[in-house]
Parts: sequence; structure tokens; C-alpha cells
Amino acid sequence: MPPAKAKQAKIIRTVRQHSEPLPEETMEFLRGLAEDYAKVKRYVYRRYSGIGSLGKIYPGYDVQKELRASGLRQELNLPDSYMAVAAMDALGGIRSAWSNLKNRIAELAKKNENLTDGDRKYIFTVLRQGAMYAAVLNDKPFERPEVLPGAEPDYRRLDNLVRRLTRKYKVALGTRMEADYFGVSPNAYAYRDGGIRLGSRTPQRRVFIPLTDNAVHAKQLKIRLLEDRIEVLAPVESKPKRHPGWTNKVALSIGYSTMFTSSGGAEYGQRLGEMLSARSERVYGKRRLRGAYCGACRKALERGDARRARAIRGSNLGTKKLLAQNRREMSGVKAYINAEIRRMLETEKPREIIIPARSKLFAPHMQKATKQKLSRWTAGYARKRLADKCALDGVKLTEVNAACTGAACADCGAAGRRSGRVFVCEACGAKGPHHLNAARNILKKAEGTFKTPQQR
Ligand SMILES: [Zn+2]
Repeated sequence: MPPAKAKQAKIIRTVRQHSEPLPEETMEFLRGLAEDYAKVKRYVYRRYSGIGSLGKIYPGYDVQKELRASGLRQELNLPDSYMAVAAMDALGGIRSAWSNLKNRIAELAKKNENLTDGDRKYIFTVLRQGAMYAAVLNDKPFERPEVLPGAEPDYRRLDNLVRRLTRKYKVALGTRMEADYFGVSPNAYAYRDGGIRLGSRTPQRRVFIPLTDNAVHAKQLKIRLLEDRIEVLAPVESKPKRHPGWTNKVALSIGYSTMFTSSGGAEYGQRLGEMLSARSERVYGKRRLRGAYCGACRKALERGDARRARAIRGSNLGTKKLLAQNRREMSGVKAYINAEIRRMLETEKPREIIIPARSKLFAPHMQKATKQKLSRWTAGYARKRLADKCALDGVKLTEVNAACTGAACADCGAAGRRSGRVFVCEACGAKGPHHLNAARNILKKAEGTFKTPQQR
């Protein structure tokens, strides 16, 4: 067979457009759309994220049909085009939640020492075949896949395991959703006169929104609502950029206080840890303060002082304000991460970047829940943005299993020890930043020259 020709991956990136400041009346109209859009999403989440609906989420026509017949459209008076996009949006969320869950179960099966290879193969097949997985979860009969020759797994036990893990790790969707955006399909908008006209609830009537640039898009758009203006997010297909001068092979170690340390010794995102701990402390403090206010509010109510209770509640317990502030802060962190990734690429000029595969992400010493959640979120975000930007710049991104790269000395290969942020090797006397040592070992792994200390 001839070798498969490498297909050039299509790169989708998001471009943003901004509106001029908008009159309150227009913002009111947009907020209404966003709220109804979120209602449709919640409705779809509620009805179709359960195990009984697994058969309906691909390709989703049934959901759209049932939605049209549900009366929700009349109740909300939301045009069909918005309804359909909201439903697809929610279905996308449901699908990715299922696929995350399946990946998680497969991971657990891989690590489960009580399973034989045949058992695992059976579980993987069930997870891969949507119809089989649905049958297992709903306890319906189905034709068992063939696994290894001669192996006859204990189906009851394995099906029970799959059901149990599914119940345990399935997450509820749409519980914490902000109504701050909506999607709009190409038939519900038009670019004209230096702005965009969006379909309204009245047929034939469109609402005009002046934009600050003249770009024109034709795909499904996302309209994000800010305080007094909007952001238009459009997917744009593009080819990777070419950087003939970028020829280096660079490994990165990913950390909490410093985002990346390169195998050449440069650091990027050194302020990340500082930004995050400041933020996690603020969140923690705010929670305590809120607790105190709630107490004061309750006491005022007990005294029969409803006016005082209202005053406390009104001035101090606003979730909306808190959410808006969170969003502002997190968008600062995001902007910083993106700028630092860009700086890294321009400095390192890589042809290929090697990073540790995503496994030992969560350092066990981070005990504060907020801090842990934040670091998990940022590490995930940084990885995703790195992957996006590498694709855009035509840089190959390789993940390697980073086991032992933190323990071995990158100079002599002996087992060393870590003391805070410093790696110390007693054998050869090397001493330096822990992450730099790790990054050099990750590079060796990619080149096949790394040996774990015992192997030497
Ligand atoms: Zn050494």
C-alpha cells in the first residue's frame, strides 16, 4: 500500500470584532436574546444529557425536531435560527462531556490491575461504539464484540464496572451558566453600512450594530456581551504561517509559578504564579467576607430589621458584580498567557516543541482547593493555546511521557534530588533550576537518549 499522504490540517482560528458603545435599548435587546439562548441550552442539557438520550445526540436531528414541537419557541418568542444554534451549541457540550467521560473511564481501565487484556479490550470497544455503550448503560441486550481469541470476559462484571464509573464521573451540565453570549447563524445576520444587522424577534426586522472595523464573515458567529458593547467572534480558516528561520528543537517544562522553562534555559510566564496566588487569595478572602455579610443580613432579619437586611444584601452580596470582576481578572491572566506564548515562540524560533504529556499535572502539595482549581485551569488553558499557536505557526508539537525527567540529572544521568526550585546532583555536582533540568531531560526523551537512573 502506498504511504498515506500527510493531509494539511485545517486551522480554525477565532478573530474578534468590536462594536461601538451601544445604546441601552440595544443592549437590553441583546441581553434578552442571550438569556433566552441560555434557556434553550439549559432545556437541551436537562433533557438530553442523560444516559437515556445517548442515542439521540448524534446527529441531533431528533433533538431539533422535538425542540420545534416542544412549544418552547412560542413560549420564548425566539426565532428558529437562534433556537437551532442554541440547541447545536448545547448538543456540542453534551457530546464533549460524554467523550471526556469515556476517556476518563478508558484511563481508569488502563490502570486497573484487576482487569485482563481481554477485559480492557472489551471495555475500550464498548466505549468506542456509541450504540454498545448506550446498550450497556441502559441495560439493553446487544451483540458482544469479539475480543482476544480464546478470552471470554466476565461480561456482567465489566458492564457493571462501566455503569458504575459512568455514574460516578458523570457531571451535571449547565448548572453554572452565564447568559453572556449567543450564537447566530449566517441566515440571521448581514454585514452592511459599517456594521452588522442581527435578526430580531420581529420578522423582517433587524437590529443594527455599528462595528469598529470593516471585516465581513460568513460563518456562524458568537456574539459576546460586554458592559455596553459587544464582541463578535468569527471562526476563520487559515493556512499555517511559514517561518523558514525557525529551525530549533526545544523542550518545555510546564510549571505553576513559571509557565514554561525551555531546554535552553529561558523562562516564560514568570509572573503567572504570582498572579494566580494573588487571585486565589482574593477569592478566598471574598468568600469569607460574603459569609460575614450573610450572617449580618440574617441577624438583621431576626431582629425584624428588613430595611437593614436589604441594605446589606443590596450593597454587598451582588453575584453579578463578582462574576464580572472574575471575568475581568481571568481575561488578564489569559492575555498574559497568550503574550508569553507568543514571546516564547519568537525567542525560541522552534521547528518542533516537546512538552510533557498531560498526566502528572496536579502537584499533590497544592492543597488549597481554589489554588488547585486555578492551576489546573491555567495549565489546561496554556496547553490549549500553545497547541493552537503552534498549529498557526506551523510548529510541530510533540508530547512525551515525562516519567523520571524530574529525578535524573541532565548532565550525568544519576538520580539527583530536588530542594525547592533547585535540582541538586551529588554525583557530578550539578546544581540548577529544577525546571531547566527537567526540560533538558524532556528533550533527551524526544531524541531517545534519556535513561532512567536505574537503566544506566
Ligand atoms: Zn549529575
